[in-house]
Amino acid sequence: MRKTKIVITMGPALLEGDRLASALATADAVRLNASHGDLEGRLDALKRVRAVSLQVGRRIPVLLDLQGPKWRVGAFDGILDLAQGSEGVFVPPGGEGGAGDAWTVPLPHPELFEGARAGQRWLLDDGNLELAVTVAAPGRVRARVVTGGPLKPRKGVHPIGLDVAFDPLTPKDLVDIRWGVEHGVDFFAQSFVRRPEDVRALQSLIRKAGGMQPVIAKIEHPAALDHLPEILDASWGVMVARGDLGVELGVECVPNLQKRIIASARKALKPVITATQMLESMIENAQPTRAEASDVANAIWDGTDAVMLSAESAVGAHPVAAIEWLARIAEDADQHYRPRVGRAEEAVGGRVSHRTDVAVAFAACRTAAEIGARFIVVFTEGGGAARMVSRLAGDIPVVGVTMDLGNARRMGVMRGVQALLVGHSDTADEALAVVETALAGTFGAEPGDKAVFTLGLPLYKEGSTNTLKVVVI
Ligand code: PGA
Ligand code: MN
Repeated sequence: MRKTKIVITMGPALLEGDRLASALATADAVRLNASHGDLEGRLDALKRVRAVSLQVGRRIPVLLDLQGPKWRVGAFDGILDLAQGSEGVFVPPGGEGGAGDAWTVPLPHPELFEGARAGQRWLLDDGNLELAVTVAAPGRVRARVVTGGPLKPRKGVHPIGLDVAFDPLTPKDLVDIRWGVEHGVDFFAQSFVRRPEDVRALQSLIRKAGGMQPVIAKIEHPAALDHLPEILDASWGVMVARGDLGVELGVECVPNLQKRIIASARKALKPVITATQMLESMIENAQPTRAEASDVANAIWDGTDAVMLSAESAVGAHPVAAIEWLARIAEDADQHYRPRVGRAEEAVGGRVSHRTDVAVAFAACRTAAEIGARFIVVFTEGGGAARMVSRLAGDIPVVGVTMDLGNARRMGVMRGVQALLVGHSDTADEALAVVETALAGTFGAEPGDKAVFTLGLPLYKEGSTNTLKVVVI
């Protein structure tokens, strides 16, 4: 069985015919990208994901990915041709270019006009186009195209070396946060996190809006790399956001940064999603390249919990095939997975946490390995215990037991964890009996199989894990 989880990005390609049902039969989590589409379309997508998940009998978490302080060109009709060597202008939306301008791009970000200086390099569309600023005047930035190509509306703008103050959460994010809380998404992902305070600010806004959703910090800004342990402490999990990471720090740095971010996340006992261009060629082709298959497997061998599709599933020509290929590659990689990171002894790394739940998680995984347990069963009301054990369990499947639907869904991004949603039990014995029945039924346990349980006594107090029990089915 596949242990690596698959996150897909929702988009028009998945709304055709019965593609969504096929997609959600395989995918484990869905990302709604707040950078694209309107609220109406997003609500329709969310409703369809919820309905189809039910229909296919899966508990699929929905992640609302906030755009954050990402600069984008404005909206315009058609596609502009920014030919190499040509010169054109950026103007505020509604503004017009002059006679000598080969192209005119609307730019709805006043701070960029203020921070622009002649000589700056501006990258567009994730670095596909490169421009050199020639004249920076109030409300007008003139630039020469160094690397040309077509420019579509709303593509990213990336001025290198421009240092202007900006809020980590934009007015648009505030609207999207309220929307996500109101409609009960399962997580928020935060773009361009630079410091742990950014994550805490978002978390407190979610709380203020009446939500309890946790935050996945996207690691894509250079500053985040200087504060990685603190960001990991502040967040529920992280994403290796290779798209913007590559733009910010250079594509050549992506492999080493991916390894470093994944290793840090595992050490902090937090989940990690590896994202962007995993099967990029499948936006057009029906098959992945060998290089892409290798990349996916290597992310898994680095220790990622989940791999993510972006345009491949959202707007590609073969969204369902992309998901199925990703599953196939992951399943093979999982079978050949030698967990180099993730065993209790390795993860502890000389650190002492002074936390009972951490100690019990380590002990459970060590015990399970020692006795050849078939399962590690984690009673987890807040989800924290399942999250930790999934780091440390190596190849042993983990069953996360909870009464909370959101919590059960969120296990959709934890490597090797399957959720078991249960009702309330009056006693610990009753709770254990319910799980044993499920292990023998849904999870295929056989008489004589061993399982290691961790739980908190008394039952149902969040963060109260203090007990380890070995059960023979
Ligand atoms: P994005 O984030 O797709 O929202 O830009 C992921 C990335 O940058 O890789
Ligand atoms: Mn990004």
